[in-house]
Formats: sequence, C-alpha cells, structure tokens
Amino acid sequence: MEDFLKKCEESNPGEKEFLQAVTEVVKSVKPVLDRHPEYLKEKILERMVEPDRIIIFRVPWLDDKGEVQVNRGYRIQMNSAIGPYKGGLRFHPSVNLSILKFLAFEQTFKNALTTLPMGGGKGGSNFDPKGKSDREVMRFCQSFMTELFRHVGQFTDVPAGDIGVGAREIGYLFGQYKRLQNEFVGVLTGKSLSFGGSLIRPEATGYGVVYFASEMLATRGETLEGKVCLVSGAGNVAQYTAEKLLAFGAKVVTMSDSNGYIYAEQGITREQLAYIMELKNVRRGRISEYAEKYKDALYVPVDPAKDYNPLWDHKADCAFPCATQNEINAKDAANLLKNGVSLVCEGANMPTVLEGVDILLDSKILYAPSKAANAGGVLTSGLEMSQNSMRLSWTREEVDSRLHTTMKAIHKACVNAAETYGTPGNYVDGANIAGFLKVADAMMAQGIV
Ligand code: NDP
Repeated sequence: MEDFLKKCEESNPGEKEFLQAVTEVVKSVKPVLDRHPEYLKEKILERMVEPDRIIIFRVPWLDDKGEVQVNRGYRIQMNSAIGPYKGGLRFHPSVNLSILKFLAFEQTFKNALTTLPMGGGKGGSNFDPKGKSDREVMRFCQSFMTELFRHVGQFTDVPAGDIGVGAREIGYLFGQYKRLQNEFVGVLTGKSLSFGGSLIRPEATGYGVVYFASEMLATRGETLEGKVCLVSGAGNVAQYTAEKLLAFGAKVVTMSDSNGYIYAEQGITREQLAYIMELKNVRRGRISEYAEKYKDALYVPVDPAKDYNPLWDHKADCAFPCATQNEINAKDAANLLKNGVSLVCEGANMPTVLEGVDILLDSKILYAPSKAANAGGVLTSGLEMSQNSMRLSWTREEVDSRLHTTMKAIHKACVNAAETYGTPGNYVDGANIAGFLKVADAMMAQGIV
C-alpha cells in the first residue's frame, strides 16, 4: 500500500487533494485486495488513478468593458468502465488540476454506488462568476463550450453543475452546444424544466443527504425530529439540505458562505430559508445580509487568523458540511465531538481532512462520507438522462420516490460492504469498497484498456 501511494505521489507531484482522495480509497480497499489478488495482478488500482484523459484549454472572453479576459478550462475524463463520463463543472477561482482530479476520482465510485450506468468525470474553470454580469457569464460559458463541445456528448460525457455552476450557467452552456452541434440532446444535466430538466434535480443532492442521514439514525433507533443541526454553505446543496431537515422536524442553526456564517440559536424558519434562497439564487448577495434583516441571528465573519472554523464549535446533534472540500480540519472534528455532535453527514465533496476523518471514525459516531451521502445529485442527473432519452418527464413524486429508494439502497450497500470486509458501521470503508468492486469488476471484464 505504501509503495503504491509513494509511486502515486511521484507521478502526481503537489496534487494534495487528489492524493488525499486516493489515500482514503486505498486504505479502505486493502482487505478487498488481500482477499482478491486478481485485482492486484491486473493493476486495477494503478489503472484507476490514471485518468482516461485530461483536456486543458484556453477560455478567452470579453468582459462588459470590451476587454479580453483569459481563463483556463478543464475536463477530466476519469473512468468509463460502467458508463459515459458523468460529473459536474465547477467555476471557482480555486479550481486547479488536483481539485478536479480528486473530484473526478471520487465521482467514479459515487456513480457506481447509484446503481446507474455512469462513469466518472469532472471539469470546470478558475473563472469566478461572483460579481460578473449575466452577459459576462454568458460570454464565458459560450467560449468554454466552444472547446468543450468536441469532447462531450450524450453517449460520451455528460457534464452537470457544481460550485458556481447552476441553472443559469447550464442554460448558456447548453445553448452554445446546441448551436455548435445542431442537435438537441441531453448532453448536460441540471437543465431548466422548459428544455429537458428533471423535477427534483435542484433539490436532489440536499434531499438525498438528509435521506441518508435518516437511514443512519434509524440504525440506532433515532430520527431527525428535534435534532439541532449545523449546516455550512448557502448554495444549492446547503439550501435543500436545510429544507429537508426542516421538513423532518430538525432545527437548522447555521448557514454560511465564503465570507462568514450566521448562527440562529432559535432555528432558521421556512420563511427565513426562503429569504436565503432568494438572496443567494436571485440577488446573488452575501449571507451577512441575513443577520442585517433578522436581528436575533449572529453573523460571524471568517477570521483567517483562526486555525479552526467557529461554525463547527456550537452545541448541536448533527453536522452537515455543504460548502467545499477540507472545510473540517482535525480541530473542527474534535470541536464537533466536544459539542455533542453524534452524526456528521457530508453534503460537500470531501469536506473533512484525512486526520479529521480518523477522529470521527475513532469516536464511533455516525459518519457518512460524501461519495455515499451526496450521491443523490448525480443519481437524479442519471434520471434526467433517462427522461431525455425517452423524451418524457416524470412527476415530482416519481423522481423523489426513486431518489429516496436509491439513497436507502446506497446506505444498505455501504453497511453490507463494511460488514463483509470487517469494519461494521464504518461508512467510509463501506462506500469505498462497494464503489470499488463495481468499477473493478467492469474493468476486469473489459480487458487491459
Ligand atoms: P454552490 O456554488 O451552489 O454553493 C457553494 C457554497 O459553498 C456557497 O455558499 C459558497 O460561498 C460556499 N463556498 C464555496 N467555496 C468555498 C470556499 N472555498 N470556502 C468557503 N465557502 C465556500 O455549490 P453547491 O452547493 O452545488 O456545492 C457545494 C458542495 O457540494 C461542493 O463540494 C460540491 O462539489 C458538492 N456537490 C454538489 C452537488 C450538486 O448537485 N450541486 C452534487 C454533489 C456534490 P460563496 O457564495 O461565498 O462562494
């Protein structure tokens, strides 16, 4: 194992997020490799960490002043053993190769867990949509797709949204793809309802996270009713996690953005959540405005001098990190435990550093890794692809019911895999092993490719 990780580090120098994701998977699947040396012989792991291909391209565009701006675009086509590449596009200034490779690697196992035929991919750009006009975002998206269109397709690679890419960006990307290819097909998911989007897709990741958390609590005879919950983020995943938590009778006391967080001890109401949705999705404002409007809430700006995030330092029962990677460090994990948190369910991708993961696992609280807990988003994207292919659309109830049933099935698959390979109750091992086995078996069957 150490030898493998060392080689991986040598061939991917400085890619810390990617190496972090690989290390976690490799640690989990060791018992599988011990029991199945055929995977070792066929160098399955070595092949899994090497993307099928990486596309990097220039994205030039004109801002509103008529000045030329240049960003970098990426698409990582990681693994197509079980289906066309599938995974979101992220527009954020922090985007780099390491972050997109970690996301594409995680996506491969997550997609396998959904039971749908989808391979793993991810892409994006260091473009920052924040503070840009709609026209600037449109021109950027059109330029981005002018290169990307030759690498994607309904049977090849089907991108979706992620941080900084919502319905607006997907619409502009889709429009440009259609113009260039002269075909109307489901090449992107997360589309608006009027041109092939699926009901429940915007809600799916957050709802799925909460369905998964309920399943975990049920193993201990508990429910979400009355539980005090810390939620980070105020974007797509955080909003619908909060919405479903309220529907299940829980109390949401925090939400955040990259500038700071709000703490509402009495719990955010449905009306207040609607305000946050309008603030973020329509006005594209900052979460600090919430505390200006609702005086009983506290606003705490980010303090770069602190080596922990105070959002995770409040008394609570459950924590739902829904902002970004590595937002829970070792100190935050310890603070969560100190404050009585007994469930951590990850909405964001890889929000906990490896040391933090170990602290949570050692404590034996309920801890769900993102690749299982937030799989509802891509699952529903898969359902959007099915509806597009069939040229029909399912009702809200039908999509939600498929989402709920599949989240239960993913939970069961994790529990079973962890039990079979000797770490019962460990959802990290369970998710990694169940995802790995499906992809590995497909790769074995397809020969050395
Ligand atoms: P959004 O862009 O809608 O929201 C992201 C939220 O996180 C915003 O509140 C943003 O604040 C905050 N945020 C982003 N980057 C940082 C940062 N570096 N530090 C602090 N806060 C940050 O994205 P999503 O809700 O779609 O995605 C959130 C997470 O969920 C990501 O990890 C994503 O990969 C994952 N995910 C998303 C899925 C989906 O369906 N959308 C599916 C599966 C996983 P600000 O506005 O200030 O930038």
